[in-house]
Amino acid sequence: MQRGELINRLDTETEWDIIIIGGGATGLGAAVDASSRGYKTLLLERFDFAKGTSSRATKLVHGGVRYLAQGNIKLVMEALHERGLLLKNAPHLTRTRPFILPVYSWWKKWYYGIGLKIYDLMSGKLSIGKTRIISAKTILQYAPAIGQTGLRGGVVYFDGQFDDARLALNLAQTAVDNGGVALNYMRVTGLRKEGGKCNGVYAEDTLTGKTFEIKSRSVINATGVFTDDVLQMDDQLQHHIVSPSQGIHLVVDRKFFPGSHAMMIPETDDGRVLFAVPWYDKIIIGTTDTPVSEISFEPRPLEEEIEFIFRNINRYLNSGITRQDVQAVFTGLRPLVKVPGQKNTAVMPRDHTVMVSKSNLVTITGGKWTTYRKMAKVAVDNALFVGKMERKTCVTGSLPVHGWCDEVNSDDPLHYYGADAEAVKRLAEENPVWKEKLHECFPYIGAQVIWAVRYEMAMTIEDVLARRIRMLFLDAHAAVQCAPRVALMMAEEMGKDEIWQQEQLRNFTALAEGYLL
Ligand SMILES: Cc1cc2nc3c(=O)[nH]c(=O)nc-3n(C[C@H](O)[C@H](O)[C@H](O)COP(=O)(O)OP(=O)(O)OC[C@H]3O[C@@H](n4cnc5c(N)ncnc54)[C@H](O)[C@@H]3O)c2cc1C
Repeated sequence: MQRGELINRLDTETEWDIIIIGGGATGLGAAVDASSRGYKTLLLERFDFAKGTSSRATKLVHGGVRYLAQGNIKLVMEALHERGLLLKNAPHLTRTRPFILPVYSWWKKWYYGIGLKIYDLMSGKLSIGKTRIISAKTILQYAPAIGQTGLRGGVVYFDGQFDDARLALNLAQTAVDNGGVALNYMRVTGLRKEGGKCNGVYAEDTLTGKTFEIKSRSVINATGVFTDDVLQMDDQLQHHIVSPSQGIHLVVDRKFFPGSHAMMIPETDDGRVLFAVPWYDKIIIGTTDTPVSEISFEPRPLEEEIEFIFRNINRYLNSGITRQDVQAVFTGLRPLVKVPGQKNTAVMPRDHTVMVSKSNLVTITGGKWTTYRKMAKVAVDNALFVGKMERKTCVTGSLPVHGWCDEVNSDDPLHYYGADAEAVKRLAEENPVWKEKLHECFPYIGAQVIWAVRYEMAMTIEDVLARRIRMLFLDAHAAVQCAPRVALMMAEEMGKDEIWQQEQLRNFTALAEGYLL
């Protein structure tokens, strides 16, 4: 996937079938759906793929136990179905994870045990493991870090887990593999219209400043928390439909929660659930649900959210986690759809919303990463309808995601490249420097930087260290430490000068500040 080659297609194609604005889970899913059905598809992302919310998830491919408790059976059934499909279609980026739910009263053990058995039954043939009610002794064997005073036992259930930013990237590659075009650093600045109907976009390549007028038969707005900005490009009087809600995660060393199980805390002091999940040899703890009025590309954690996580996680662990133990903090904004009169985002529905404007602009928002494929299908079906195109059958239910491979060896540090892993290893053989680790505490090697530049459209240090490899999200200090090395390797590969390197380093160091406590 090479940006230069893909940009050239903008000059050769006179009209696209579908243009998608936004390169997060929803937009990329739509690009895969449309291109694999054979439509001429173009996706434009303002920054990098998954720069927005889609790299900042809790990394769960799940039905949502909490939504079951809220009685949203339809959403849970749909998400469990999608969970099953994603685990099959992207095995290199997903895995099944056992979760422990510790309880401190007898009746709750049965309450949660029965609830989670129903959760498993709802996944039907796509079940990924049987829910079991277990004793306190077994819990402590699985998760010795859990505090034992008053522990009455608990429940083990199974859910999925994934690498969100890498899935986003692999979806972009899948769209391109299927004949589509997906471009990062391409901002949509306006909607092209004829007779009041939207028939394309105006866009700017933010790396070169070059502008484009691009025609299409339909346009999908999949811009997450930025949905209202695009709706207002369409109609300045359009009222806001998105109510953003912020969630933060703290990342700590694996020693604070050793073992292969994750933990779900069923009731925090604001009545939500909290997860502690092993991920690439660290533990992610999160998340929060805080309504916010300001929408930023780099949202920052609030002090009250940080305190909330410490307070709740430390009620369940033997050893207290402190600020000094946090290696990274990352924050995302949920694009929740407004409910008139409701201010509490925690109870707002997580279902997706699709709407078609008078201009034929199709907007899709809300939902979850887990349900991106279903959302994409709905968005594309609507785009075909307004664009008066023949409706071809959606094939993504069984479409392998780029990198799909038969067997995944999760002990291989490059396993998440899937079918591309061998090529990354061959690349490492070409230059002794590319075989070296980027940082002594991580398995990442130089070849991954070169691979990211050559084949994964990485344009900045941030693209590499935040999303092609996940070091910024795992240990922000370590990411800053190896940034000069990454800058040098990228500059050599991309033919950039010293000034570019220095600017990149300044930008990345400033950005990384926001990932440190
Ligand atoms: C804290 C948190 C935890 C979560 N955890 C989970 C989880 O564990 N599992 C799960 O299934 N879901 C989870 N979710 C939900 C999931 O992450 C989101 O539903 C999903 O990522 C939203 O994707 P999106 O594509 O709609 O939005 P985004 O990822 O924000 O993508 C929108 C994109 O549009 C681009 N854009 C905006 N304006 C323009 C423009 N003018 N031109 C071009 N591009 C533009 C932006 O740059 C952005 O990249 C979580 C969400 C949060 C906030």
